Amino acid sequence: PSGMALHGQSPNAPPSGAVLINANENPLGPSKAACDAIARVAPLGGRYDLNGETDLLTRTFAAQNGLKPEYVEVYAGSSEPLHYSVLAFTSPAKSFVTADPSYEAGMYAAKTSQAKVVKVPLTKDYAHDVKAMVAADAQAGVIYICNPNNPTGTVTTKQDIIWALENKPAGSILLVDEAYIHLTDEPDTLDLVAQGKDLIVLRTFSKIYGMAGIRCGFAVGRPDLLAKLKPFGQNAMPITGSAAARASLEDASLVPTRRKIIGDTRRDTIAWLKAGGYKVIGDPQTNCFMIDTGRNGKAVFAAMKAKNVLIGRTWPIWPNAVRVSVGTPEEMAKFKIAFKEVMDAKPT
Ligand code: PLP
Repeated sequence: PSGMALHGQSPNAPPSGAVLINANENPLGPSKAACDAIARVAPLGGRYDLNGETDLLTRTFAAQNGLKPEYVEVYAGSSEPLHYSVLAFTSPAKSFVTADPSYEAGMYAAKTSQAKVVKVPLTKDYAHDVKAMVAADAQAGVIYICNPNNPTGTVTTKQDIIWALENKPAGSILLVDEAYIHLTDEPDTLDLVAQGKDLIVLRTFSKIYGMAGIRCGFAVGRPDLLAKLKPFGQNAMPITGSAAARASLEDASLVPTRRKIIGDTRRDTIAWLKAGGYKVIGDPQTNCFMIDTGRNGKAVFAAMKAKNVLIGRTWPIWPNAVRVSVGTPEEMAKFKIAFKEVMDAKPT
């Protein structure tokens, strides 16, 4: 009947009690300060942005990173500027160069712009092979570097990123996706933006800041590069996202505290896997890693799902490897039990 309310969960929601280590989310969620900021601005939501929350966020981030505010554009997450950057700088004549395996959203955007996609395997240490990526296509439009890389969690050195910037084909940009940078001890590349180099850096509040469902992210780059993203869509930010993001940035202890919590859980889980003779790929530095299961990864995924533990998927280049996100210690304890049972059973 009309007017009937739908209660509780969507039929597509995961079953209750499921261990959700499938989407590189942060089980710690938004910080208390972020939630308080959301409550503070919610009553002002009848206006677009009365207090200039998004401008305050831009200025805060810029000041913290030695950037001019016009080098920072705020979006409702980093998916949007990732998509727009690829649309803006690739075309049928300008290709998209990516590592393999890597985060695939940029590759899908390249299909929309009918650009050639050039996939370059990771090095033997699972870093981006910057030499091969730079040499991959003289007509490259975008060279995408996801650092740390999703799905492997492995890092590419700043030295290599600088080398790529200095040697990339004329007319191309580097798109450096730093969604997971706070979870590592590696340096970021915002200083290269401040120096006016040909790169756009993507940041998100979905990972260490625990705001995947609240939505906020940045494109950071020279104003002339950021201007090229504008024709693909301009939207007002939800003031809740901007206010929560600023509150998160203003809490200096948030990033180091969470890096330690998530890092400790990752190190414990990986040590357990290795002690059990399972093969973890590379030296993961973030909130996800891959396990080479030595058997069909999709079958492992399905067997784990049947035990109500939702792990990440496989990538075509490595059909035996599954991605696992780092959850809470309690969630990882459940993961260990289920994974051992699955691997002890005969492969299906
Ligand atoms: N970039 C990478 C590497 C990611 O892993 C993700 C999400 O998983 C995103 C970008 C997009 O995230 P969001 O749109 O929530 O910022």
